[in-house]
Amino acid sequence: MPETCLFCRIVQGEIPATVVASTDEAIAIRDIDAKAPVHVLVLPKQHLRSLNDATDAGLVGRLMALAVDVARNEGIADSGYRLVINTNEHGGQTVHHLHVHVLGGRPLRWPPG
Ligand code: AMP
Ligand code: ZN
Repeated sequence: MPETCLFCRIVQGEIPATVVASTDEAIAIRDIDAKAPVHVLVLPKQHLRSLNDATDAGLVGRLMALAVDVARNEGIADSGYRLVINTNEHGGQTVHHLHVHVLGGRPLRWPPG
């Protein structure tokens, strides 16, 4: 677990975050710079640099399931939402600890930039 990883430090409680859900292997936190009325990040407690390193398909599925729970709890499941996993440079990943964005609460345009 890299000491310098921002999301590892949040998981360890060394940096504050607003936690909206938690399981034995993942947490969901509010994005500090929300791009939509609902913007939550679902991240595994274990350090994985990106989706490319997520070899456990079961874990990936459970992260998705937690993201859906978050969407329901935030009241956007019926109106609709988007799950995004930015991966590496062209994907726009800026924090290199796997995370699923849960975005909703307004219509989202397509395609992304
Ligand atoms: P990505 O660009 O896909 O790697 O997403 C990283 C996300 O982390 C961005 O949406 C940032 O706004 C968010 N972020 C950065 N620092 C924090 C923090 N301390 N707490 C919560 N979210 C953060
Ligand atoms: Zn990490």
